[in-house]
Amino acid sequence: MNTKLKSLVDISRHYGSDPDYVIAGGGNTSYKEGHYLWVKASGMALATIDETGFVQLDRRKLKVIGEKRYSEDVQIREAEVKEDLLAARVNPEKGLRPSVETSLHDLIEYPFVVHTHPTLINALMCSQQAEEKTKELFGEEVLFVEPAAGYSLFKIVKEMLPAYRQRYGHDPQVIFLQNHGVFVSGMTTGEIMQHYETITETLRKIIGPEEIRYLPIGEETEQLRQEFSRNTGGKHVVVRHNNLHRHFYDSVQAFRAVSVPFTPDIVVYCGAEYIYSEKNRIPEILGDVMQRITQYKQRYGNAPRIVLVKDYGLFGIAEKEQVAVTALDVFEDFMKVSYYTKTFGGPHPLTQETIDFILGWEVESYRRKMYG
Ligand SMILES: [Zn+2]
Repeated sequence: MNTKLKSLVDISRHYGSDPDYVIAGGGNTSYKEGHYLWVKASGMALATIDETGFVQLDRRKLKVIGEKRYSEDVQIREAEVKEDLLAARVNPEKGLRPSVETSLHDLIEYPFVVHTHPTLINALMCSQQAEEKTKELFGEEVLFVEPAAGYSLFKIVKEMLPAYRQRYGHDPQVIFLQNHGVFVSGMTTGEIMQHYETITETLRKIIGPEEIRYLPIGEETEQLRQEFSRNTGGKHVVVRHNNLHRHFYDSVQAFRAVSVPFTPDIVVYCGAEYIYSEKNRIPEILGDVMQRITQYKQRYGNAPRIVLVKDYGLFGIAEKEQVAVTALDVFEDFMKVSYYTKTFGGPHPLTQETIDFILGWEVESYRRKMYG
C-alpha cells in the first residue's frame, strides 16, 4: 500500500475511534497527490476504515464544481453538485459515494485533511461567543466560517481563501466551522495531530472535564422502556441514565438547551425535534409521550428517535437497535456540548432554515438511510 494512504488510514482510525472527536459516521478525511484526491466514502465509519473505504477522485474534474453555475433552487443545486461529484470518480464501478464535504477537502492545498466534529471544539462552535472567543484563543491565522451546509459552505470558504492566501502566503491549516466542527490540514498527519492537540488542550483548560456518572436503571425505568417498545409497534428502545441527563430533564426550561439541534449530525442521527416529558407516573408518561410521538409523525412523516423523561433518563427509539444506540451517542454528545457552551455565553443552535435544508437534503437523507 502507498505509505501516504497508510498514514491516512491510520489517522482516520485514530480520530474515528475516539468519541471525543467522531461519533458514528461523522467526520471525514482525505489525501491528495498529483491530480488525485482520496476521500472517505459517505456512510463509512472512520474508526474501522481501510484503504477500500476511500473514493479516488480526479481533481481536474472536481474543479468544475467551483466554476459552474448551478440552479438557484437549493435542493436542485445540491443534486446537480452531487452529479458532478460522482462524475469525478476514477472507479465509479465500485459504487462508492464520496463524502458530502469532498469539495471542501479539494479546496485546501495541503495533502492531508482531517475533518471532525469534536465535543470540545463544538462547545465553542455552538456557543454565542463562537467568533470572538475563537479569535481571542487561536488568533487571526485560523479561519472562522459562519454556519452553512453543502455547496454554500464550499462557496463561502472558496471566497475567503484568496484574501487569506495573500495575507499568509499559504492555506489555513485550521478552519473552524460554526455549528459544525473543524477542518485541520497539513503536509503530514503528525502536523495535523499537533494542531488538534494544541486546540484541545487550550479548550480543556477553560472548559474543564465533565465526568459522566451512570445512574442505575431501576425497575420502573425498565418497565417504561418496555412500554415504549410495545406502544411503538415493537421498536427497539434503549435507555440510559446518567448525571448529564439531569442537567436537562428537570424542567421545560432546562430541556430548552437541547431542544433545537446544534449541528447537521444531530439532525441526521437524532432528527430535528425531541420528545420531553416531565410527568412522573408511568401511565401519565406513556400517555404524554405517545401523544407527542403522534404529533411528531404528523409534522415530519417519520417517528422521533429521542425521548427524555424527567427522573427516568434518555430513551433512543428505532427500528434497529444500533440506530437507537447511535442516536443516544450523538444526543449525549449534544448534551455535553450544550452544557459546555455555558463557558462561552450559552448555546447557539442551528437556524430553522438550515434544519429544513438538512431535512430535505438528498445527500444527507442517503446518510440517514444508511443508518436508518
Ligand atoms: Zn462535517
